[in-house]
Amino acid sequence: MDLGISGRKAIVCAASKGLGRASAMSLGREGVELVINSRTAADLEATAADIRKDSGATVTTVACDITTAEGQAKVLAACPNPDILVNNAGGPPPGDFRDWDRDDWIAAVDANMLTPIFLIKATVDGMIERKFGRIVNITSASVKSPIEILGLSNGARAGLTGFVAGLARKTVRHNVTINGLLPGPFDTDRLRTNIRAAAEKAGRDYDELFAERASANPAGRVGTAYEFGEACAFLCGAHAGFMTGQNLVMDGGAFNSSQ
Ligand code: NAP
Repeated sequence: MDLGISGRKAIVCAASKGLGRASAMSLGREGVELVINSRTAADLEATAADIRKDSGATVTTVACDITTAEGQAKVLAACPNPDILVNNAGGPPPGDFRDWDRDDWIAAVDANMLTPIFLIKATVDGMIERKFGRIVNITSASVKSPIEILGLSNGARAGLTGFVAGLARKTVRHNVTINGLLPGPFDTDRLRTNIRAAAEKAGRDYDELFAERASANPAGRVGTAYEFGEACAFLCGAHAGFMTGQNLVMDGGAFNSSQ
């Protein structure tokens, strides 16, 4: 399917690895002009080269921390009028809420709630004026099914989701949609790091624990970043204009619900 977005401009945040990278790759294949960001310049350049090789897309890199005001300003300077915005950042660390102080909470809220909100604020009115906009917030399946040790993530992402629920219903009249894409387990550095930590804590073998987690999923496996990127690109496509304010779980069916 041609998603009808060739020539559109996109900002994809936190895109040198994992789900952000895959989303940028898929958008590149649709002929979208990309501005991609992450902190580690070498990884970001390598990803940009891979995308150019894969699809021939035009890719601009902005190496910075997207959770800072300076980082956001740099990315917006490289692409002041995006048609597509994919919000993403690293997730907060796991732990016990008794150990988290105000600074820990502020960092989580900054990264996973306020950063996407400020990037939306900076770009949504231009999208409304131009009568086209697609905003995808990469959050987590934990928005619908909280994971106890990820309290910082549960809290901050719930705040973003609540805010967007109202705005998404105001912008859709102008062909500007805002949706959440909620990953369950996907085979990325983040998942591998989490499983490695869990294996070390339990004195278990990493490969064995990974296989156990994958087999416990209804799909019998974890997701691939490619699958995630393609779903993200669809939400950014011209044909997805009647979908807004949704929180779409991609988890192989692990979230057990009839609705
Ligand atoms: P990943 O493979 O670890 O990749 C994270 C990417 O984000 C890297 O490119 C990283 O590059 C960049 N990044 C991190 N912090 C950043 C910052 N402050 N500013 C700019 N770039 C930043 O992670 P992932 O699995 O793709 O996860 C993406 C998001 O989905 C995370 O919020 C994660 O919590 C969430 N999630 C993932 C899963 C899963 O199974 N994979 C499940 C649920 C939720 P640099 O480090 O160089 O900046």
